[in-house]
Amino acid sequence: MGEREKSASDAPGTVYLVGSGPGDPDLMTVKARRLLEEADVVLHDKLPGPEILGTIPEGKREDVGKRAGGDWTPQEYTNRRMVELARRGKTVVRLKGGDPFVFGRGGEEMEHLAREGIPVEVVPGVTSAVAGPGVAGVPLTHRDHASSVSFVTGHEDPTKEESAVDWRALAETGGTIVVLMGVGKLPEYARALVEAGKRPDTPVALVERATWPDMRVATGTLETIVAVRDREGIEPPAIAVIGEVAATRERVLDLLENAGGEP
Ligand code: SAH
Repeated sequence: MGEREKSASDAPGTVYLVGSGPGDPDLMTVKARRLLEEADVVLHDKLPGPEILGTIPEGKREDVGKRAGGDWTPQEYTNRRMVELARRGKTVVRLKGGDPFVFGRGGEEMEHLAREGIPVEVVPGVTSAVAGPGVAGVPLTHRDHASSVSFVTGHEDPTKEESAVDWRALAETGGTIVVLMGVGKLPEYARALVEAGKRPDTPVALVERATWPDMRVATGTLETIVAVRDREGIEPPAIAVIGEVAATRERVLDLLENAGGEP
């Protein structure tokens, strides 16, 4: 076949970097829902959760979270796949848990697409960093307890010299600390915060699979939370919220119990 003339059909499709929200389908944006319906292909990993993934027809889902074999790292594979599909004129949704720009590599993917000349649009989502504490009854700010909030990754080893997260500075701000990817290294950063001057009885809440049907919440203090994590078997994905605000949940549960009277 000879070279075809450039026509509108040769224009690449758009890639939408879409945040799915934390997992409850009712917490997806209307725009995300519409784009999932309109998309030719949805590239996703496991983080959007079973309920949301279950609403996408099998035929247009592609799991790019895990890849058996191959020479590419998953991120390179995802980048290539997005470009390949868009160049075939497909409308692509790259679905990400929470918000695409909160520890979601959305920035890297957006730049990659732009470099390749693929139209890209970002559709923000409800991040688990806000929704997780929210559904657990933990306000991130509070007039009496916290006037700032920090979102940090717990993946970094706090004992590392050049750790990208400055736990000491975080301890000093006195604001609420929300840790993503923070189940595994909880012992290390809980200790780092106490060493930096945080009170050992600072409240901590762990919110596992926030808004999923099997969500769990566990609470403790910087001193006890590792034992709580181990006893309850808390696993990723989970959010850790550290600060006085984390005690609000128990207070409200007590109030509700005492105010309730007869069921
Ligand atoms: N872009 C996502 C975060 C991706 S990083 C967002 O905005 O939510 C992956 C981390 O997100 C997990 O390790 C966990 O800390 C957190 N996370 C994502 N979904 C979650 C959920 N439903 N419940 C608890 N934590 C969640």
